[in-house]
Amino acid sequence: MSACPAPAADPTASCHHCDAVCCRLTVVLMPEDRVPGHLTATTPEGLHVMARNEEGWCVAIDNLHMRCSIYEQRPGTCRRFAMNGPYCRSTREEYSARMRKGIALTLHN
Ligand code: SF4
Repeated sequence: MSACPAPAADPTASCHHCDAVCCRLTVVLMPEDRVPGHLTATTPEGLHVMARNEEGWCVAIDNLHMRCSIYEQRPGTCRRFAMNGPYCRSTREEYSARMRKGIALTLHN
């Protein structure tokens, strides 16, 4: 997926002006999560996670609208991710820096 121009890191980060960069982070699933099985994967380390596409985005993302296609069923990890919280801002800053450099994005957490 070709991403839009990188958002500037700012203190007013909002999902309405973001490339959904948090949806490239590893989302570890918990037993209480109710995500359709075909959207999940198991890492070599044995973690049950949201599967990602070849470009690194969670397979549940709606590429056309850049939003979660299973919003009502999204995992607890996604529910707890705070928009404009410290992790959101640092993730956006890392993404912006990589986009400015033209380096492919790989996020690890
Ligand atoms: S489940 Fe939805 S909110 Fe969570 S990473 Fe995937 S697309 Fe994003």
